[in-house]
Amino acid sequence: MWEEHTEWRNPQYSKQISRLEDSLGMTENFVQNMRKEKKEKLKFFEGRLHDFFRRAGREHLPWRKPGVTAYEVWVSEIMLQQTQVSRVIGYYDRFLNRFPTVERLAAATWEEFLPYYAGLGYYARGRNMLKAASVVVGEYGGKFPKDTDKLVSLPGVGPYTAAAIASFAYGKNTVAWDTNLRRVVGRFFFGSKRSDIPFSEFEGAFRIPAKDLNGALMDFGSAICVARPKCGACPLRDRCEYFRNHGKDEMRNAKDVLETEIRSNPTPRRLGIPFTKGRDGTGTKKTKTETNSHFAFRNSKLSFKDAQVMLFLHEGHRKYYSSRKKGYAPFVVPASHNTRAGIKDWFRNRYGLELAVRPPHRKLSLKGKPTLLVNAQILLGTPALPTSDDAAYRIFVSTLPKA
Ligand code: SF4
Repeated sequence: MWEEHTEWRNPQYSKQISRLEDSLGMTENFVQNMRKEKKEKLKFFEGRLHDFFRRAGREHLPWRKPGVTAYEVWVSEIMLQQTQVSRVIGYYDRFLNRFPTVERLAAATWEEFLPYYAGLGYYARGRNMLKAASVVVGEYGGKFPKDTDKLVSLPGVGPYTAAAIASFAYGKNTVAWDTNLRRVVGRFFFGSKRSDIPFSEFEGAFRIPAKDLNGALMDFGSAICVARPKCGACPLRDRCEYFRNHGKDEMRNAKDVLETEIRSNPTPRRLGIPFTKGRDGTGTKKTKTETNSHFAFRNSKLSFKDAQVMLFLHEGHRKYYSSRKKGYAPFVVPASHNTRAGIKDWFRNRYGLELAVRPPHRKLSLKGKPTLLVNAQILLGTPALPTSDDAAYRIFVSTLPKA
């Protein structure tokens, strides 16, 4: 055995060994320095964030009051999904006046629930609220569970909402990684809000209790480190990676994603930078907006003022209601009703159904007629309409001319 390693005694190798030992020592020092730097950076980040939170935190928000219950946090977090704080406040108070406890909510019908929710949009999440309230009452005796694994099993509750409930209501050390938190932490430590950042490594690294950390980062991300960051006014900028490299990493990343999307999908989504798809399929800057009083479009030669509406009535994009019995066909609403209110009226009079109507997602010319493609869901009423699945809808859409 020893024979195999006699070469280590060779002076020629001893030199190499000492060089290796030196470089290992350097690596160790380097790692130690990195750790120290990381620690200091984390300390700086927490300190400045804490100061900001003390001075400008939104502690006045009704769901941040001391002693807030898990039910109240849950209501606020569900309403805040895709909806601005200023818009939610009025809804939140009215909702809790009508449904002050989860038991009262679980006992409500959709028709009783709707007037206190209508207008917030995303009606699937409203239906999930009723389902989740029933589960909390039926399975947990009216108390939201403390455990995040149990919380995420409730309808409409994802890891972010579960972490928010656990930290704000139960004081648990769970970081609620929403868009704001990812953006601030990503930019400060890595120079970009890109998605491959190992955020879970930060769990347990912060010394601020998660309740305060979540609140501070949410507030900071919606006031200072917004989509177009206000670095000039930012107390973190001295050590922020994004500020140091002028946001180049993030811009490069956004450009890469955008180019990949354009290659694989002719209708790219917005990436937080001004972008609309131009006539030649490439990105262009925002151009003058053309409106038909309620719906707005860009880059169009056609006038859509008198456009007809092709209405896709669906249930969570899994089931599609059809205007005819055989095969799938959307509903065609005449140009005289091509506003949101008009579409609702037309449908109410014809089918006795209340709809939630989305803004048009596409415009095109159909046999020479300007046409708006609009999605809608049923809010109230029992539809007696033929249905099709997602595949039939996709086949139909693939036959439409390109915009
Ligand atoms: S310096 Fe700019 S990018 Fe960095 S945390 Fe502040 S606002 Fe965000």
